[in-house]
Amino acid sequence: MKSLRDVTSKSAVILMAGILLAFSVLIYVGVEVLLDRYVDGRLMALAETIAKIVEQHPNILEESNEERSLATERIQRNTEQQGFQGVTHSIRIYSSDGRLVWRVSDTVPQQSVAGWVIEQVRSGNPVYESAQATDGTTARHLYISIPRYGQLRYVLQAETSLRRYRNTMKSLLILLTIGSGAMLLVAWIGSRWLAQKVLTPIAMLSVSAETISEVELGKRLTLESPYQELLQLAQAFNSVMDRFQRNVESQRRFIDHAAHELRTPLTIMQGNLEVALLKARTAEEYRDVVINNLEQVGRLIALKRALLTLAKFSGDKPPVYLAPLALEPLIHDVVAELTILFDECRIKLSFESQSVPPVLGDAQWLKQALINLLDNALRYTPSGGAVTVRLQTAGEGIALTVEDTGHGIEPEHLPHLFERFYRTDRGRAKDSGGTGLGLAIVKEIVEAHGGSISVTSQVDKGSSFTLRLPASTHQTIPA
Ligand code: ADP
Repeated sequence: MKSLRDVTSKSAVILMAGILLAFSVLIYVGVEVLLDRYVDGRLMALAETIAKIVEQHPNILEESNEERSLATERIQRNTEQQGFQGVTHSIRIYSSDGRLVWRVSDTVPQQSVAGWVIEQVRSGNPVYESAQATDGTTARHLYISIPRYGQLRYVLQAETSLRRYRNTMKSLLILLTIGSGAMLLVAWIGSRWLAQKVLTPIAMLSVSAETISEVELGKRLTLESPYQELLQLAQAFNSVMDRFQRNVESQRRFIDHAAHELRTPLTIMQGNLEVALLKARTAEEYRDVVINNLEQVGRLIALKRALLTLAKFSGDKPPVYLAPLALEPLIHDVVAELTILFDECRIKLSFESQSVPPVLGDAQWLKQALINLLDNALRYTPSGGAVTVRLQTAGEGIALTVEDTGHGIEPEHLPHLFERFYRTDRGRAKDSGGTGLGLAIVKEIVEAHGGSISVTSQVDKGSSFTLRLPASTHQTIPA
């Protein structure tokens, strides 16, 4: 696995190397261009000065030896004034047909000048060229014309050795290489130091995160750092741990409850069977045992079904398939199906409906939610009571209310009613076969539809459960 520290320092060094290379190339090329211009400028200034002397004294090159050495001296003085002392240089003057007629230099002369150079110079263009110097190094040549009466009289060649400039460029290259190397070393050490500084608190966080075990879920990360980002990271980790702890605890509670709910019917069944086996029983007694155990099996099956339903809703994606749905016919069907049961208990079941918009819903699950509410209303409403199902518009959506005239619920139970396995004392005492999961399932179904559930109740007067669902934006209902 890659180490973040290594990757950080490697990236910093690569980045720095790229920057330094680009910078060095820029400096090197820039200095070389500037030096070339400087050399050419100097060469031109020297050549022009000497050309002027020759122009002003047209016969200087044809005078006696004494005059020529005076001219040579004068030209040499000018050469030094142009800043060429210490640099190997020479001045040569050629006739218009290219023959060497005069030179100021003890170097081996170039005896003639190329024809194309003469042509260029004749048409007024100075010619620069780089060539092998007499001292073996590269030299720079400049040819210009020395005119007389508007005609080319002489061609002046000024030459300078580029050795000093080449040495300067070599020194610059060494300087840039050493400087870049040193900077890369600093970048490498610096980036490792920086990575160390940033990663140490992260390493501390991960060490303390590892110490949080399943038995110590309440433990939280503490980090003393001046850096806001790292504090935020610790905070984010702690809030994830809060949620995780809540989930684990609620799962533990859920498993405890489920185990408890499963244990009760199983214990009853075991007791029934043990008592039945103690001595010989009549057929009637055995029948009672079987009937009782059958009831417990029914309880177990109801519990298993409720647990499976909740498990389906606990996944990432609730098992609802939403489509535009008209609720009125659906409620009519459910009410019609359950009316016989209500009649048997002498409870009046009625349905009142307004014209409401369709909802985005899953018919099967919404039917299940309504049946759960009506099942509770039937169980907790005494004979002679009434249960009303009401469908009406509410804001942007609809409200479906199941109202009964039953025992009602004490106010202290109301906030917990939709928790899994929560039952009021009356609900337990009645032992009406409930699992304590019916309302939790209704809540899951409604929330999977983007809706909500609420309850109001008055002891001895009755309870009212209301589902609120958003209306579908599609107004047409598929057939
Ligand atoms: P159960 O299967 O035990 O009915 P529910 O989740 O459906 O579980 O209901 C939880 C508790 O809420 C019940 O045990 C009961 O005490 C109370 N309850 C639910 N509906 C009503 C109602 N219509 N009238 C009075 N109490 C109710």
